[in-house]
Amino acid sequence: MGVYGDAKKQNTFDAIVIGSGISGGWAAKELCDHGLKTLVLERGKDVRHIKDYPTATKDPWEFKHRLEVPSTIRKENPILDRCYAFSEATAHFFVKDNEHPYIQEKPFDWIRGYQVGGKSLLWARATQRWSRFDFEGPARDGYAVDWPIRYEDLAPWYSHVEKFAGISGNRDGLETLPDSEVLPPFDFNCTEKHIQQKINNRYKERHVIMGRCAHLSKPNEIHLQQNRGQCQARNKCDRGCPFGGYFSSNASTLPWAMKTGNLTLRPDSVVHSVIYDEQQGKATGVRVIDAHTKQMSEYFARIIFVNAACLNSNLILLNSTSHRFPNGLGNDNGLLGKYIAFHNYRGTIYASMDGFEDSYYFGRRPTMPMMPNFRNVYKQETDFLRGYMIHYSTSRGASWQGAAWKDGIGADWKNSLTGLGGWGVFMMMQGETIPKEKNHVRLDTDKKDAWGIPLLVTSVDYDDNDEKVLKDFHEQGAEMLANAGCSNIRTNDSQQAPGLDIHEMGGVRMGLDPKTSLLNKWNQLHHCKNVFVTDGACMTSTSTQNPSLTFMAITARAANHAVGELKKANL
Ligand SMILES: Cc1cc2nc3c(=O)[nH]c(=O)nc-3n(C[C@H](O)[C@H](O)[C@H](O)COP(=O)(O)OP(=O)(O)OC[C@H]3O[C@@H](n4cnc5c(N)ncnc54)[C@H](O)[C@@H]3O)c2cc1C
Repeated sequence: MGVYGDAKKQNTFDAIVIGSGISGGWAAKELCDHGLKTLVLERGKDVRHIKDYPTATKDPWEFKHRLEVPSTIRKENPILDRCYAFSEATAHFFVKDNEHPYIQEKPFDWIRGYQVGGKSLLWARATQRWSRFDFEGPARDGYAVDWPIRYEDLAPWYSHVEKFAGISGNRDGLETLPDSEVLPPFDFNCTEKHIQQKINNRYKERHVIMGRCAHLSKPNEIHLQQNRGQCQARNKCDRGCPFGGYFSSNASTLPWAMKTGNLTLRPDSVVHSVIYDEQQGKATGVRVIDAHTKQMSEYFARIIFVNAACLNSNLILLNSTSHRFPNGLGNDNGLLGKYIAFHNYRGTIYASMDGFEDSYYFGRRPTMPMMPNFRNVYKQETDFLRGYMIHYSTSRGASWQGAAWKDGIGADWKNSLTGLGGWGVFMMMQGETIPKEKNHVRLDTDKKDAWGIPLLVTSVDYDDNDEKVLKDFHEQGAEMLANAGCSNIRTNDSQQAPGLDIHEMGGVRMGLDPKTSLLNKWNQLHHCKNVFVTDGACMTSTSTQNPSLTFMAITARAANHAVGELKKANL
């Protein structure tokens, strides 16, 4: 239903941001900081920092099922049940399978968090910059399309978001993983250090460093201004942190934007589509369905940031049809929804480490040692494209884990339960996948969700390159652990479906040529310049690094460009 007169005025803002997760939070902060009256539309419920973290300080015995999700709920949610972070403590932040169905043409585990803050409440906070090799990769190796930006374009924006979000780590001086603006790092334990030294000594081009993560190991003034405090290394992060010790939209960007007086946050507002005005040749607003009453309304603005997370941003744009754009907003070349890529997480390795039984560690560190990609960095050197980064960690088992199942009675048996087991080693890969046209999402032509919006069809799969990357990780990882003195080395292929990595990217990719891409170098739709897409949907390729820090930097850069263009009356 159309909105006119005073009602239209009331529903009119300078900017609209769709989604309040990691990227939407950043768009809101930057636009509000520049004085733009900004409306953030979020389909999920409100989640206020601290107040709405019901499990944040609970101990395991305070949960009815000691953190286990009851089997009935697991059975009802087979997709979600495969996500490692789904527990009795976090269930309320995850989308349940049957509430928001989608159609898997090929297996795809779509993990979502529909609420104010999105998945920023749930994420694991690993935050590495991408390197020049990542942005040059597609052009050099001849896949996807060339990125319209290079590392240098993003470097100042990485600094900008890092200082505000707070990133813990070292300045490692690596070309393959550029330094961040860092707060003090977390420490290796003795066996992790041992493995690090063995690998660094033996392999010239392989570098083990402490993982960088979005935690306030030592808050700066800018973090105190956000009312955030030091990370307590409790590692209960995905329940929401009452200290604001890790970066989330709820603890950081949204309250900051709210303080400017320029933010209007509207939860329970499902964006249906972007409104395109044929006469003006631009987008004028969005159609919104109330999550509860299901009533449709319209909101208007001069610029629109689409930040609903990769696949939902694709869905909204595909659903934004008009006479000018019958196949979705900006979709003249038919590539909207195509070239979806993700991270290959299938490979893990387990091992034991003898010795060091006189040592232990303190606290629950929220990050792990890591090794940036060392494959095909300077030139093509294997029979597969690109490569993988590695995370590993070590920990000591507890003797009760085995003893509790053994027969026994009395003091000796009880004492045996409190002892420590040996050191175990865990290693995992994060492989780059190659964006391909056939890996796509589209709208189903019949089926609709409870809000009358077409269901998304996912058609995304692995390819031979992914199998080769996995094999190489298993060989190289096992070799490195053997050289570091590990024993009982076991490789594992989880065979998990794409999507469970929760790093989906693409579908609205950036590029130089409107014939082969949807967005320009400032994340504007080539054919509808006042619509910006700055979440995972915009990514031309996936790198081997975690993506969210790059979403933040790209969003801040695009938002500042948008403000400049508005001032010049170009939009
Ligand atoms: C368990 C877990 C671990 C992770 N670990 C890491 C990590 O270590 N490092 C890393 O870089 N990334 C990690 N990620 C991924 C990271 O969370 C995402 O990359 C990031 O949150 C994406 O930001 P976003 O703004 O695109 O989407 P989100 O944070 O998901 O926010 C999108 C928002 O849009 C809303 N929305 C969707 N559709 C609509 C609509 N139609 N109308 C209105 N609102 C809508 C959603 O409700 C949501 O609030 C992890 C994710 C999970 C779940």
